[in-house]
Amino acid sequence: MHFTLTELFIATFSLFFLSYLSLRFRLINMSGALTAFIIGFIVFIFGGWRWFLLLLSFHLSAGIVTKYKYSFKSSLGAAEAKGGARAWKNVLSNGFVASLFALCEGIRGGDIFFAGFLGAISTACSDTFATEIGLLYPGKPRLITNLKVKVEPGVSGGVSPYGEIAVILASLSIGVLAIFLGDVSSYIWWKVLLISLASGFLGSTFDSLMGATVQAQYWCENCKVFCESSKHKCGCEAKLVRGLSIINNHAVNFISTVIGALIGLIIALII
Ligand SMILES: [Zn+2]
Repeated sequence: MHFTLTELFIATFSLFFLSYLSLRFRLINMSGALTAFIIGFIVFIFGGWRWFLLLLSFHLSAGIVTKYKYSFKSSLGAAEAKGGARAWKNVLSNGFVASLFALCEGIRGGDIFFAGFLGAISTACSDTFATEIGLLYPGKPRLITNLKVKVEPGVSGGVSPYGEIAVILASLSIGVLAIFLGDVSSYIWWKVLLISLASGFLGSTFDSLMGATVQAQYWCENCKVFCESSKHKCGCEAKLVRGLSIINNHAVNFISTVIGALIGLIIALII
């Protein structure tokens, strides 16, 4: 650990300001803001400001892409609830793994933890972009486990060309930003890019695979649509038709960031 009182002050002040802005623009709700504050603080203090800027770029771009064409996504019945303001479960499932690697870096030091951090952030970012941009695809998405099967937009496990392009662009952007920030690790630039691209792509592919298999999927008889929770937006109870009830969307996001971090670590260790 190597932070000074000044850094502590800057971190606290910046986080208060950013939490206020995120609440003001409804990127997150109050529970989401508190969770993001804690995760952001850990990353800032233990990973440093460069790590924090990577996390922040994910937070802001995810917020913007969620708001983008929100009413259209809403008309599909697939938009994030509550105007796209994400709550604590969403923030935690996307940010917990990254904050853990930042904590390890602060305590133990050494570059290896950056690979895990980058992998987790790249996966979270790619996956969010895949979902939000994928919804804008004019055709029907296809099920990742059987590409002949078409599914409705927003159904877990569905993949589309837009979603795949979003994955590449998001993971590439995170990698380029990490290189641009400089001194973020001692890795050569192409290794940073490789970790970011491979983690983002494989992590979000794993997310879709879980979405098509083990993730809980429910059917609302009232609205004749699939949904992701046992209580549909209309207020009716929905019936579990696929997957396990304990594996919801948040669990899938969390597991995907673990996979993304592991891929980052593997690349860092073998190359
Ligand atoms: Zn319903």
